[in-house]
Amino acid sequence: STVYLNGEFMPMDEARISPMDRGFLFGDGIYEVIPSYDGKLVGFGPHIERMNQGMDLIGINFGYSEADWRQVCEALIEKNGAGNLGIYLHVSRGTDSRRHHAYPENVEPTVYAFAFEIPAAPVADREKVKPYKVSSTEDLRWQRCNIKSTALLGNVMHFQQGHAAGHNEIILFNANNEMTEGSACNAYIVKDGVVITPPLDNQILPGITRLMLLDILRKDGSIKVEERIVTMDEVRNADEIWLTSSSKEIAPVTELDGKPVGTGEVGPVWEKAQTLYTAQKYNY
Ligand code: PMP
Repeated sequence: STVYLNGEFMPMDEARISPMDRGFLFGDGIYEVIPSYDGKLVGFGPHIERMNQGMDLIGINFGYSEADWRQVCEALIEKNGAGNLGIYLHVSRGTDSRRHHAYPENVEPTVYAFAFEIPAAPVADREKVKPYKVSSTEDLRWQRCNIKSTALLGNVMHFQQGHAAGHNEIILFNANNEMTEGSACNAYIVKDGVVITPPLDNQILPGITRLMLLDILRKDGSIKVEERIVTMDEVRNADEIWLTSSSKEIAPVTELDGKPVGTGEVGPVWEKAQTLYTAQKYNY
C-alpha cells in the first residue's frame, strides 16, 4: 500500500525511519485513527482537534493545519482505493542522536500515515449485527489514559488477555470497581432505557465516536443519556452493554465473563442508537 512519511508518499516497504526515533524507543508520540467509507471521512475535525490536544499535552510543537491533514488523508484514500479504510496518523517527537529521556530540542517530529482496511460499518439491525462477547479485568494501565499515546503496551496486554480467552474485547474497571473503558474502545450500559457512560477524566480516552454518539442522542432526545460513574455491579445487571470506537461504531455486547447481558440478545436501544448514528455520522 501507499503510505505517507514526512511529506512524501511511497510504497509501505520503502518507508524508513531511524531506530533512534523516540516513537520506536519510548513510544513517545501521538496517533489517531479516522474511519472512512467510500472516501467519506467520519469525524475528521474532532479527530484532528484531539490529536492537536494530545500533542499539546506532551509538548510536541507541530504545525500541520486541518487542511494539511485533510490533504494527507484524502490522498491516502485515493491512492489506496477508497472502500472501508481507517486512516492512521502518527506524530512522534522525532529522532535524537542519543537515547536520553529529556525532550530533545530542535528535532523535527516524525510524521507517518497509512490506510488500512476496516470492517464495513455495522448495519443497524438486531438480527444481522454480530454481537461481542467480552471479559472484564482490573484496569492496569497508566493514569493518563486521556492521552492518545502511541505507547499502547498496557492496552495491548489487556486486549491480548481478552483475545486469549476467546473474546473480542475486554472491559476494564478501576480499584473502586468502577468501569473505565475497553482496551481499545469506550464502554456504556443501558438500564431502563437510559444510556450511561463514565465521565471524561484521566481514566479514559475521550473517544470521537463517544463524542458524536452522545451529541446525536442528546439532539434526538428520545433516549436519555447520563455521564456518571458506572459500577461493575451495574454493568453486570445492565439491560445492554455497548462498546464504541472509530472502527466498530457501536458494538452490542451480549456476553460478559461467560454470562448473558440482559436477555442475552442484542437490545432495542442499541438498534435505535446505531440507526441514529448511521444516519448522522457524516455531519461531524
Ligand atoms: N478508548 C481507547 C483505549 C481506544 O484505544 C479507543 C480507540 N481505538 C477508544 C477509546 C475509542 O476512541 P474513538 O471513538 O475516537 O475511536
